[in-house]
Amino acid sequence: MQHLQEPSFRQSVDIMFNRAAALLDLAPGLEEKIRVCNSTYVVRFGVRLRGQIHTFTGYRSVHSEHLEPVKGGIRYALAVNQDEVEALAALMSYKCALVEAPFGGSKGGLCIDPRQYDEEELERITRRFAFELIKRDLINPSQNVPAPDMGTSEREMAWIADQYHRMSTTDINGRACVTGKPINAGGIAGRVEATGRGIQYAMREFFRHPEDVARAHLDGTLDGKRIILQGLGNVGYHAARFLEEEDGCRIIGIIERDGAIIDENGLPVERVKAHLNETGGVRGFPGAEYTADGMSVLAHECDILIPAALEGVINMSNAHAIQAPLIVEAANGPITAAADEILRGKGTVIIPDLYANAGGVTVSYFEWVKNLSHIRFGRMQRRQEEARHQLIVDELEKLSADKGLGWTLSPDFKEKYLRGAGELELVRSGLDDTMRAAYQSMREVWHGRDDVHDLRIAGYIVAIQRIASSYRALGL
Ligand code: GLU
Repeated sequence: MQHLQEPSFRQSVDIMFNRAAALLDLAPGLEEKIRVCNSTYVVRFGVRLRGQIHTFTGYRSVHSEHLEPVKGGIRYALAVNQDEVEALAALMSYKCALVEAPFGGSKGGLCIDPRQYDEEELERITRRFAFELIKRDLINPSQNVPAPDMGTSEREMAWIADQYHRMSTTDINGRACVTGKPINAGGIAGRVEATGRGIQYAMREFFRHPEDVARAHLDGTLDGKRIILQGLGNVGYHAARFLEEEDGCRIIGIIERDGAIIDENGLPVERVKAHLNETGGVRGFPGAEYTADGMSVLAHECDILIPAALEGVINMSNAHAIQAPLIVEAANGPITAAADEILRGKGTVIIPDLYANAGGVTVSYFEWVKNLSHIRFGRMQRRQEEARHQLIVDELEKLSADKGLGWTLSPDFKEKYLRGAGELELVRSGLDDTMRAAYQSMREVWHGRDDVHDLRIAGYIVAIQRIASSYRALGL
């Protein structure tokens, strides 16, 4: 069935949910209970700035409380609205279930263009918004735990954590009220780049299965694959940099606010990012072809398209023109339900948002656990692990000397083998394991059921089944 009208973001998520739920045998009424957003709090508050009171509108939606706390970022953007926040909250429920992060789904947003305010103003606005949410337990370590999203970063999370501390001075677990904090405010190593890292791990896992790669009419490994990326923000930048530096991918196109740049030989991600930070756009990047019509580049020929910016960028107007055989949804909801249908019809393989960008919330989960346990990961084991490895190395070297075997362990091997895992290594290992396991669970459904033809529906099926079993455990 072709949709005549473009669905809204929330409708898109619901359409995808419904397609999956229709294939499941859920208890009567449970499908609706899972699908609907439980509540959305809308707050309008005033902040005195530049000699007058400015009124801001903020949201915090709670989609599903089958597990608590509920989890999801806070977005700062002018386009924030209730439909969007509810769609994003629903995606959080499915995402957390798919990667087995023990949270319900939530999301927040503030209608603001953060570039219009200086740091001090943003701090006052953020603290005021946080105050409104904390007052209603919509920020709370055991009830609702926000994180960064578009337009927010570590800085805002540190203000929120501090605001919570001021209002709940005796809460020993207060730091766990928000994730994505700077390390010195209770954050965890590897959180900033976690979503980008998760995208890399997701793509590596996909390429470990030649059968799956063949479905996208591709072959081989990630090495040499030609990628077009939309959005060089925190997620897109890290994903592209890792893929370029560690997996041999070529980033042949980058789409940003002011247009796109193309270079078949591969764009140096780090330098493009520096140019973007300096000039505010990609225009004028030396040696690359520039086009002001950035959106048209989504339809350029490439191996892999990574939309890492806004929702709805691939829609009914351009889905037919997309040439990439593989799309990785680094953003939340970049493909509308109508476009999804068109792309599926063409045989495009989509690694869906609820899986592809789940690295952020996965490492948020580790941060929350770290805050509740009040100890850095690896602190107890690291040196003990090193000492045990040293025993083996010493024994091998002694054996070799005693028997005159002349064995020598290469200094590189010794260095790597002897080093015990610190927090960053453990976070990466946990994230990699999570991304592999979640892919396996989707893949079993994708390949194992005749009525499932795409990874998105497979992912929704896994997520819905897990949420349904949580509800069953609650007696619903
Ligand atoms: N905002 C991110 C997302 O959309 C991260 C959420 C979190 O860490 O709670 O997944």
